[in-house]
Amino acid sequence: MLYALPQGCCRCLGPAERTIEIRNTHTVTKDLKKYTRRYEIQVPICQKCFATVSRYRSIRWWVCGILIGCAVVAILSSIGMRDSDAQLGVLFSGCVLLPLSIMAFMLAASFTEPAEFDQEGRLRFKNKEYQALFDQANSPKILS
Ligand SMILES: [Zn+2]
Repeated sequence: MLYALPQGCCRCLGPAERTIEIRNTHTVTKDLKKYTRRYEIQVPICQKCFATVSRYRSIRWWVCGILIGCAVVAILSSIGMRDSDAQLGVLFSGCVLLPLSIMAFMLAASFTEPAEFDQEGRLRFKNKEYQALFDQANSPKILS
């Protein structure tokens, strides 16, 4: 998919010095079959926003990694437990923590990413002004 990307940082509209990759994967069901769609684009961004978004991304990965690690440790350690009540409790909390950490990761992404692809594959920017410029640049042109 080719888009006309407006000049300027997609986060603060300042002068863009580089680009950042926006990537999303959606699973769509069509005719009872599941398809995975991958979207990827480089969007313009300034150095300051790039540093901020990169920091958010690494914090997200770390927090999610630690949470998943805790969940796996809980699930694995429950295997060797003798007390069956405690075993069930630890196993249960591990099983709850696992999807929760993935949900937290995705929720954090929706707050900290400068742009995302929606379910229809349309690029959506957090910055409303940039979104307006983007919509303008990508709207169908009336030629006559
Ligand atoms: Zn910026």
